[in-house]
Amino acid sequence: MTNHKPQVLVLGGNFAGLASAQKIREYARDAVDITVIDRNPYLLFIPNIPAEIFDNRDPASSLRMDTAEAWREAQVNFVQGTVCAIDPDTRTVEFVPGERAGAPVESLCYDYLVVAFGCRLAYDKIPGFTQHGQAASDTYYGNKLRRVLHEGQYKGGPIAIGSARFHQGTAVKDLVPMADAACEGPPVEMMMAMATWLKNHGLGGPDKITVFTPGRMIAEDAGEQVVNSLLGIASSMGFHYRNNVGDIAEVSNEGLRFAQGDALEAELKILLPDWVPHAFMKDLPIVDEEGFVVTDMLMRNPKYPEILACGDAAAVTVPKLGAIGHQESEIVGRQIACDVGRIGHDIAAEPLKPLVYCIGDMGDHQAFYIRSNSWYGGDTQVLKMGRVPYLLKMQYKEMFFRTRGKIPPWGLDAAQFLAERLFAA
Ligand SMILES: Cc1cc2nc3c(=O)[nH]c(=O)nc-3n(C[C@H](O)[C@H](O)[C@H](O)COP(=O)(O)OP(=O)(O)OC[C@H]3O[C@@H](n4cnc5c(N)ncnc54)[C@H](O)[C@@H]3O)c2cc1C
Repeated sequence: MTNHKPQVLVLGGNFAGLASAQKIREYARDAVDITVIDRNPYLLFIPNIPAEIFDNRDPASSLRMDTAEAWREAQVNFVQGTVCAIDPDTRTVEFVPGERAGAPVESLCYDYLVVAFGCRLAYDKIPGFTQHGQAASDTYYGNKLRRVLHEGQYKGGPIAIGSARFHQGTAVKDLVPMADAACEGPPVEMMMAMATWLKNHGLGGPDKITVFTPGRMIAEDAGEQVVNSLLGIASSMGFHYRNNVGDIAEVSNEGLRFAQGDALEAELKILLPDWVPHAFMKDLPIVDEEGFVVTDMLMRNPKYPEILACGDAAAVTVPKLGAIGHQESEIVGRQIACDVGRIGHDIAAEPLKPLVYCIGDMGDHQAFYIRSNSWYGGDTQVLKMGRVPYLLKMQYKEMFFRTRGKIPPWGLDAAQFLAERLFAA
């Protein structure tokens, strides 16, 4: 029997890919077949890696969620493989099956394509990083830094934390602002948590730490008022701050050299690199000059409307935040469901209104909470600090794993209520 259902192919199965597949299934119900390709059969809960490092837990065992059950629940055909090419004209994707080495290139056709396979974190573009840099964005680097901190390799010298310059494409500059760094919540989180770690290990405090940014203002996307409050608190605690340093030119044993000519002495250099699209995306007719997928605020590519993007791979996702990818997945689900006649145009026509939503660990069971849309022209700028945001951060991950990513909307509403009203710091 021939299957006439539209074939939806989702590339990537972490936050954006999983949420997109779930939302498509929720709204389109049985009107489509869904296939997800990811090189990993698990989701990595990246935002909690820094907290695991400082608490000396292996993020590979605490932050990986096996996705098999989530795919079964969403009636998704999961393919473990590495995508290596997209042909928008023939509606074909090429991939290499990943369970065993030696598989040849295979291909799949689609009626709808959802590009949700994130970016490369380009540590390989930072000279000297391999020998002298540290990071917290995956389990390998997380465990490397964990060993440096907890096994006595760090000797108590100065610490530099910050980002390389982000190279954002210009194709969607009328839709979202231009950013100098891809995602600066993590550096702010790590500077706070590191100061607590130093204090608790008798190694000093904030005055050992310099946080830097390639841009005018760190975490600018959180809103000027929020950042000024954060910087005020940080400077009164003794942190050092450098802005407008440009790109990271080199990491050495002694410290960092920046593109603007500045240098910074540091024993420990904890870095966020440039977030770069996958190499094979460059020059496709669906991407900007950097390789990010161009979409409108309904997450559709203007030239190929059957191609949608979600999460870090999308050009309009700035900053690169899982929380924004989550908002986009809702739109992706509704767009496809509308095309197949399962929901009305009025419901599907609600465009992305990005909201920066970030909870950062500060150590000692404290966290900061930011909810802001002022960078995009909105009027919300909320900053809270204390134990409740920390509990929310940890509980969010527990609830995510328990529900296999299907956080009920009331979960987010309750988090906002608890952080902003009930236990306002
Ligand atoms: C240290 C750190 C802390 C962070 N903290 C926060 C936070 O507090 N809040 C927040 O909202 N965001 C945070 N972020 C950002 C957040 O992690 C990302 O925005 C989010 O992970 C993006 O989700 P994604 O699904 O688009 O991409 P990813 O999470 O990068 O997932 C991409 C998926 O695609 C797969 N993939 C990639 N290439 C291929 C290929 N060629 N073939 C097949 N599969 C492929 C990968 O295996 C992966 O599963 C943080 C990031 C870092 C580094």
